[in-house]
Amino acid sequence: MPRDGTTVTADVAVIGGGVTGAAIAYGLLRRGRRVVVLDEGDKAFRASRGNGGLVWVQNKGLGCPSYTRLSLRSSLLWTRFARDLQQDSGIDVAYERRGGLQCCLSEAEADTRAAQVRQMTAACSADGLDIRMIAPDEIRSMEPQIGPDVVAASYSPHDGAADPIRLLRALHAAILGRGGRILSGPAVEAIEPAGDGSHMLRRRDMRVAAGQVVIAAGNGARALGGTLGVALPVRPQKGQAIITERFGGHQKVFIIKARQTIDGHFILGSSIEEDAADLGTDLGYVGPSVARTLRILPFLQNARVLRTWAAYRVMTPDSFPIYGPIATAPGIHVATCHSGITLAAFHALDLPGILTGDAPADPIAQFLTTRFEEAA
Ligand SMILES: Cc1cc2nc3c(=O)[nH]c(=O)nc-3n(C[C@H](O)[C@H](O)[C@H](O)COP(=O)(O)OP(=O)(O)OC[C@H]3O[C@@H](n4cnc5c(N)ncnc54)[C@H](O)[C@@H]3O)c2cc1C
Repeated sequence: MPRDGTTVTADVAVIGGGVTGAAIAYGLLRRGRRVVVLDEGDKAFRASRGNGGLVWVQNKGLGCPSYTRLSLRSSLLWTRFARDLQQDSGIDVAYERRGGLQCCLSEAEADTRAAQVRQMTAACSADGLDIRMIAPDEIRSMEPQIGPDVVAASYSPHDGAADPIRLLRALHAAILGRGGRILSGPAVEAIEPAGDGSHMLRRRDMRVAAGQVVIAAGNGARALGGTLGVALPVRPQKGQAIITERFGGHQKVFIIKARQTIDGHFILGSSIEEDAADLGTDLGYVGPSVARTLRILPFLQNARVLRTWAAYRVMTPDSFPIYGPIATAPGIHVATCHSGITLAAFHALDLPGILTGDAPADPIAQFLTTRFEEAA
């Protein structure tokens, strides 16, 4: 760790060491850049430490095919990403693409879901998107424990899951292993022009001089955008979930909001709460979502609850990611999203090439900060 008041130099400074910033930093190091990651190093329950670990495609991008394509692309990259990351870090992030189910509990739900699936496949089947509705017999052949209330489900072979805590640890280990630096400490307070086209990042204990900056600070992006005069309208959206005791066996296919972890626990439910003042847990919120899940997998009715947890999603007004350079601050890029596990492979393997100018920016063209100016 540098001494107080010193200036560290790097090709790229990434602000935020959560799964998004860490994946990008890892990818930039693979491309030979000197990278410094600045993180608050807090013990707070940031999104990267409190999520479901799903690498999920089938609910991404209804009405926004670019987002479906991005999620699909990331899912297709995930096997290589997990393998490379294991080589670099020695950590197996337990990624498996077993396929995923989203279950419907009434005919009306099934009709709505079928219409969504038709819309998404019409837009993206030429890109290889595979989602289809399946009937109870086929659902039960995939998951015999499915309850009688399930009348249909959408299924996609692209869907999978990884262990999100191992993922974060692996990314940090791989960054250090490839010569990157992770400087935990006070928040970055300002990003100032350094005169020669580069940037000076200021935090209470040090400065970092870097040619490029990536703001991957999760919900911290809003304040950093404010210091640059650009709107990065992320907001914290709370989600709570319940962890059950371990069960033997092996979930053959992942079920959204009822995923079995590699250790045998089930992660149930996931609430959506706006304007939450704190990260306390409260069955009033998470209960309805879990009640629904118990109709899908009734054998969990008597499962012992080990713990509940809550974390803040990083949500935008249109729920899509924010990427790309800030037009008024050349050399400063943004990367923030609400599905950072799903998109981690894209962030590590594709996005760094776009940031360095080695790859075309088409995949992120719809997700620039300018869309919020246009909407204002
Ligand atoms: C309940 C729940 C379930 C979820 N389930 C899934 C799922 O199944 N699949 C999926 O793909 N996604 C899921 N997500 C979303 C996923 O967790 C997030 O998209 C992802 O973790 C975002 O990572 P991040 O690095 O962008 O943000 P964060 O994890 O919030 O990290 C941001 C980092 O930036 C740092 N920072 C902020 N401001 C500053 C500053 N000024 N200076 C220095 N550092 C700063 C912070 O210290 C922090 O470490 C879920 C989220 C929740 C809450």
